[in-house]
Amino acid sequence: MADVKEILSKMTLEEKCALCSGLDFWTTPPIKDKGIPSVRVSDGPHGMRREQDKAAVANAMQVSMPSTCFPTAVTLASSWDVNAAAAVADAISEEAADQGVDVVLGPGVNIKRNPLCGRNFEYFSEDPYLAGELGAAYVNAMQKRSVGTSLKHYAVNSQEYRRMSISSELDERTLREIYLPAFENTVKKAQPYTIMCSYNKINGVYAADNKYVLSDILRDEWGYKGIVVSDWGATNDRAQGILAGMDLQMPGDEGTGDRDVAEAVKSGKITEADLDKVAERMLEFIFRCVDDRLSRAKSCDYDAHFELAAEIAEKGAVLLKNDGALPLKKGEKLAVVGALAKKMRYQGSGSSQINPYKLMSFTDYLDEIKADYVYAEGYDVDGDKTDKKRLDAALNAVKDAEIVLAFVGLTDVFESEGFDREHLNIPASHNDLIESLLAAGKKVVVVLSGGSPMILPWADKVDAILNMYLAGSAGGKACYKLLVGDVNPSGKLAETFPKSLDDNPAYKYYHMGPQTVEYREGIFVGYRYFDTAKKVVAYPFGYGLSYTKFEYSDLKLSSKEIDEEDGLTVSFTVKNVGDRDGEEIAQVYVKDVESTIFREEKALKGFVKVALKAGEEKTVDVKLDKRSFAFYNVEAKDWTVESGDFEIIVGASSRDVRLTDVVKVNAKKVAIPAYKDTAAVYYELDKATDFPAKDFETLLGRALIENHKLVKGEIGYDSTLADIGTCWIGKFLKWAAYTFSSAVLPKGSSAALKKMVQMGALDMPMRNVAAMTNGMVQRKVVDGLIKRCNGKPFQGIGTLLGGLLGKKPVKKSAIYKA
Ligand code: BGC
Repeated sequence: MADVKEILSKMTLEEKCALCSGLDFWTTPPIKDKGIPSVRVSDGPHGMRREQDKAAVANAMQVSMPSTCFPTAVTLASSWDVNAAAAVADAISEEAADQGVDVVLGPGVNIKRNPLCGRNFEYFSEDPYLAGELGAAYVNAMQKRSVGTSLKHYAVNSQEYRRMSISSELDERTLREIYLPAFENTVKKAQPYTIMCSYNKINGVYAADNKYVLSDILRDEWGYKGIVVSDWGATNDRAQGILAGMDLQMPGDEGTGDRDVAEAVKSGKITEADLDKVAERMLEFIFRCVDDRLSRAKSCDYDAHFELAAEIAEKGAVLLKNDGALPLKKGEKLAVVGALAKKMRYQGSGSSQINPYKLMSFTDYLDEIKADYVYAEGYDVDGDKTDKKRLDAALNAVKDAEIVLAFVGLTDVFESEGFDREHLNIPASHNDLIESLLAAGKKVVVVLSGGSPMILPWADKVDAILNMYLAGSAGGKACYKLLVGDVNPSGKLAETFPKSLDDNPAYKYYHMGPQTVEYREGIFVGYRYFDTAKKVVAYPFGYGLSYTKFEYSDLKLSSKEIDEEDGLTVSFTVKNVGDRDGEEIAQVYVKDVESTIFREEKALKGFVKVALKAGEEKTVDVKLDKRSFAFYNVEAKDWTVESGDFEIIVGASSRDVRLTDVVKVNAKKVAIPAYKDTAAVYYELDKATDFPAKDFETLLGRALIENHKLVKGEIGYDSTLADIGTCWIGKFLKWAAYTFSSAVLPKGSSAALKKMVQMGALDMPMRNVAAMTNGMVQRKVVDGLIKRCNGKPFQGIGTLLGGLLGKKPVKKSAIYKA
């Protein structure tokens, strides 16, 4: 490694500032006369989205180099398989090396607060423990192969709506128990080279400016050693970010942010020593990447990766229902309906969208193996409404078949980065297709595609449901092997499928805005809520069927009484009692039997995936530590275990409890906050219909901030283009941003991508305009616009024209050439 301190000591102020922001969308600036090379980052997380070189500066959404599209995070998570996560990361590291990429932007470990989040397909789970284990496995595997990662989006980024400006308002305990642990575990076990801070504010402070989150917790408490990079355009106050520990601003904005930092040093707002800390971390990061280049993979077998993608899709698929129709008999003529069988939905839209090196839908695979089948599309894949002609043609095509495979689910425009879903339904035309098949007396096997829970109104009537989620580019092959039983399904849901959207505890407190979104349900996210409130769900967390059956027995605890620091080993036996080989995911939950503070009914603290031949049994161990029994105590500012009995629950899902025992834990006595009188709702969830503001304020320790539409006088850098309709120019720009933004996309881009770019334009805060227009629109123009929108027409136009016509600073890309 180069002598970083020596290099730093020779750098000018301007060079240090320049080092801490991108040269363009994907690279850091080379500072050649100081011997500092440039490094390249590219999107992941389920494959490489390495943009073609010519596009690097001009356009963030250009077509990328062909690469393997692995199943997305939701699918990988349903495998509950840390080895699978490692295998995917390992393969992606080879493609990164092949494509000259130093850091892959992923994985995403945000918690799925609500199934409406458009980006849930890119995240692992509603459970922080599971997300953290998969995150750590992924990061460790990739970095072992000398390719860096970027753990994202840190933190509390659970919705796309107003993601660049909204403040996630939540109490400290919820932050610590739900939204941070997946990051914490990954940092402590794997030290990602970079962590990507999220766009949103956390309790009023932008993640990018948030010293508490970026330094106090991340570095001082967890011991993080790498750099923090901004999500693309998440930088707010660059100098404040330097103080907070936000190292790298991405993308570059042709020097606007760098000038802010230099100015802040000169004016004494920050010291050069503050900047040096960040610049030194940047140098360490850059030279580490450069050293890594020597030890990266020298070859990359894209065909082998395609086969791996199929294997992962097999592991991640979840069999939701089977009345015996599956596995199908091999060799029989198949009746296949649903356009998604041919035009498979295999990944989500947005920054993670891969240009697949090879793509195989279900019908492609049937063609490859020369299977005998009939196919009809049944609905228009780009629409929602039933097309009578297509529906009738499908019914006609399968009139002689007894069993029909119906491919339905969420199409592209239903979920994407950049906007949230409006409901949990699949297109009406898909439901109509299934109902019509049932009415015609067919046995129906449903194959689902989509990145998050859906409402399946016909679930009780069909014979089987195989949820392929978003299965990656080899999904068609995996699907066939699962349906015919070449592979036994073993995936289990890493999220709850609710009965209806309004069952979700955050139902009333999602989106919200314009200023804040209140996390009023607190720690009761996903099954933690459903199990505590005793709500009926469609499919519980941890649920998934197999073609065989498993029995659990012989639960043993290493001790019946422990001290809080001791840890506990839980062992039990799982037996495959069916006649097929299979894999079972056994889950260990902990329940605090009696507690002073409110707690969830049970929480996942360990799991194990066991491969068992027919008739075979294995005894497995799961280790629990102090954290498995603790809650975050805001008074002690630490994790507290309350002495008493804890139930150890071994389940095949959160609702399918197989074995239980009790351990007594002795712990230090610590003061525990009492909320029973002031936040009663959290103690009686089964009776609650709402989370009242005053109960939530008790947890928050402060009053809530009222949301309101911005008026003249309130527009600032923070305001989005959606907010600036307080004057005619603002209204016009809002209209123009929405109408013309998708022109940046290559021809033929999907409707989902267009909608994402349009929503992204509306959500963009004024401060980001320079960064996101690649420096084309200067800060002064924005200043003028803000004045104009705040009711100062003449001053506003003057400043704006000054910005448009005045002398422009030299572009960063002209100084530091790639
Ligand atoms: C996304 C990130 C992504 C980045 C670069 C952002 O809009 O939130 O996940 O890595 O763009 O494409």
